[in-house]
Amino acid sequence: MKLTGFELRRIALPLVAPFRTSFGTETTRDALLVRAVGADAEGWGECVAMSAPLYSSEYVDAAIDVLRRYFVPAMTGVERGTQVAPALAKFHGHRMAKAALETAVLDAELRTEGRTLARELGAVHDRVPCGVSVGIMDSIDELLTAVGGYLDEGYLRIKLKIQPGWDIAPVAAVRERYGDDVLLQVDANTAYAVSDARHLAQLDAFDLLLIEQPLDEEDILGHAELARQVETPICLDESITSARAAAAAISLGACSIVNVKPGRVGGYLESRRIHDVCVANGIPVWAGGMLETGLGRAANVALAALPGFTLPGDTSGSSRYYRTDITAPFTLDAGHLAVPTGPGIGVEPLPDELAAVTVSTEWLTL
Ligand SMILES: [Mg+2]
Repeated sequence: MKLTGFELRRIALPLVAPFRTSFGTETTRDALLVRAVGADAEGWGECVAMSAPLYSSEYVDAAIDVLRRYFVPAMTGVERGTQVAPALAKFHGHRMAKAALETAVLDAELRTEGRTLARELGAVHDRVPCGVSVGIMDSIDELLTAVGGYLDEGYLRIKLKIQPGWDIAPVAAVRERYGDDVLLQVDANTAYAVSDARHLAQLDAFDLLLIEQPLDEEDILGHAELARQVETPICLDESITSARAAAAAISLGACSIVNVKPGRVGGYLESRRIHDVCVANGIPVWAGGMLETGLGRAANVALAALPGFTLPGDTSGSSRYYRTDITAPFTLDAGHLAVPTGPGIGVEPLPDELAAVTVSTEWLTL
């Protein structure tokens, strides 16, 4: 597949409601899309960096800059998705930008050859069970209303964002209102210290599936210490930046579950390696989410159909985040999303919807 160039397209997609985590509040998804253009097909990748470097060091303006200045020029001679990471290996970091570029090339390649991303990655299911991530609210009543709405929509697992001052009480309230059968977990997005272990151990009473990333992303030994002091399984998100990092965290006892996000680890091919490392160690994985549009969602659903993804992911329906998505919407069916069956990532942007939310475009010829 001969590539002729790449388009960088920045979009601004309004969220249905503000989404608050321990990092901050978002009201609009400021996202970068990468379109790889080849002789016979084009492909899309979504960069999951946010406007500001709050989840990780990456942010949208930096992604645009590093793609334009270094990554796209390095694509000369690249013809397959598997060649992207080696071509970018000398550049440190910027995994979200790398992932978007690799996904775009991989999508174009698979479309050229009529193959699906799901099949390429090794998916074994045609639909995946879905959970939903519920942000921090102003009141418990507001939280209970939101959780009730998601359960009514059919979500099979609830994840509550927590931070100091919003942790034990909201979990207790959800358990009391909706019962012990709801699959429930929490995500702290690095908001605690290992000295909070006794406080966090209060969560053990609520039979949670897991507590996600309680400590700083670099504090692997802290997570291992915490895992000895709390019974709730520790899951890592921000800390797991590669298959090597996953192997180290597992062997140090820092986690017993792993959240896989392709943007965080540099792409879907590295995500598959993390899946393989975890399966080999008996560690369950699940698919995280970064408020993706339908483009990123499609690829995440394909990944979540691999056999080691044994817990429901944050692969929510499009309506969880967007009133109008830039692709045909993903709609929940009995708590599941169907794995796309079309070539490549299996979906394409709707031209009018895409144009309506486009902030800027830039064409880079190879
Ligand atoms: Mg998380």
